Amino acid sequence: MTSATAFPLPRRARLLPMLTAAHRERGYLDRPTVEAIARELRIPAAEAWEAATSQHEFAFDPRTAGRACSGVACAIQSGWREPTLPAGCLFSCYAPPASGDERPFPPEMVRRAGPLLAPWEGGWVGLERARALGPAAALEALASSGLRGRGGAYFPTVAKWQAALRHGAPVALVLNGEEGEPGVFKDRALLCLRPERVVEGLAIAMEVLRPAVTVAFINGSADPAAEAFERALAASPVAGQVLVYRGAGGYVLGEETALLNAIEGRRAVPRPRPPLPVDAGLFGMPTIVNNVETFAAVSTIFRQGAAAFRSLGTAEAPGTRILSLSGRVARPGVYEAPLGTPLAAVLEEAGAPPLERTALLCGGPSGGFLPAAMAGLPILPGRYHPTGAMLGAGGIVVLEAPGDIRRAALTMAAFNAEQSCGKCTPCREGAPLLFEQLSAGETADTEELAEVVQAASLCGLGQMAAGPIRSALAFWPGAFR
Ligand code: SF4
Repeated sequence: MTSATAFPLPRRARLLPMLTAAHRERGYLDRPTVEAIARELRIPAAEAWEAATSQHEFAFDPRTAGRACSGVACAIQSGWREPTLPAGCLFSCYAPPASGDERPFPPEMVRRAGPLLAPWEGGWVGLERARALGPAAALEALASSGLRGRGGAYFPTVAKWQAALRHGAPVALVLNGEEGEPGVFKDRALLCLRPERVVEGLAIAMEVLRPAVTVAFINGSADPAAEAFERALAASPVAGQVLVYRGAGGYVLGEETALLNAIEGRRAVPRPRPPLPVDAGLFGMPTIVNNVETFAAVSTIFRQGAAAFRSLGTAEAPGTRILSLSGRVARPGVYEAPLGTPLAAVLEEAGAPPLERTALLCGGPSGGFLPAAMAGLPILPGRYHPTGAMLGAGGIVVLEAPGDIRRAALTMAAFNAEQSCGKCTPCREGAPLLFEQLSAGETADTEELAEVVQAASLCGLGQMAAGPIRSALAFWPGAFR
């Protein structure tokens, strides 16, 4: 955690930064270290330990420090092995096989740039426009752009901001740069290469929302992205007004209430809804959580105008979307395309194999597989197919079908089992069982189990964990016999 804020942070909010610092120093955490931190913060040691162990990327034994990537793109590059637990991803799917610490996102991996990935033009023109408009008119300008959040749910951004403001109480603002979905690396690309655009979008949101506290939460492994963001922040008009948090979270931090718990120094698990974060979120305040790409879009809207933003994309889904493409493509990397562009157009640009031999994993562990015969579908929010495939955060892994399908489905099932936070039984017990059934090729009861896990899980991780399995079984049943 760096920088200061006017908001008097509870002492406990220092827990994650202190755990992270201790982990960085030693490479792992042990019980005496966690207990010493708990004493300093005057919180029960058991609660500090609970919070520490809920962070997936922390090691608690020097022998297990360091991670290997078992994501799909790396597994393909290394020659498929049978997927097993533990599972994980190092988020460098554009340059497999990944190993060691993250490196700065390579500029040459920006394969197609639009307004978000274009070089930064300099100055803080968008922020100055927002200031000149004032909060109410700036909100109207944002509303007229039709921007929807780019985290994966595509909720109208201005509706989220207004929902928090209607309480008339101090609000909290959170930039979600956790990016923990295997196959997605577009936030890292933005933060490494265009950090000023993200900072300006955040600064505009601060201007409009006047938050009591602003937090930028950046994936604990994404050091180059966090360093570039902090440099841009330090040179910006909002220097010193944003708390930068680094964690060791995991996929479940994509559920924004888990992210809020992590910031508060609690166990990083989702909270029941209601209340929604916009009603009672960080430290009980109405809270707006937006993704890195959403803030970059806010910057372009105020710099270039809502009409320019709307000139790309569709009426219902304006603007562009950054896709992360990896797997069996000649040119992996990030592709910024107007929403509504056919998937096939981007695949062709990326050098995917002939469509008759290709399958797509769309939406990662919460999404599903799609035969390339459906690649004519447009890039739009929502499901591509009811079995699971969706645009989500824009991750697409290109595969050969049917050769890759079984092991790719197992890889996703293993990841979901590994990342389940354990809070609710259907997900905690069901996700590993789905993996076991698939591994053993005993899929007679899989659909029934998938239904239970989907219906009875608290958050999206459990509710959508069966997507890759369901879609693989639906389109390629022979791959599991
Ligand atoms: S569905 Fe899974 S990840 Fe979500 S709260 Fe329940 S156990 Fe945790």
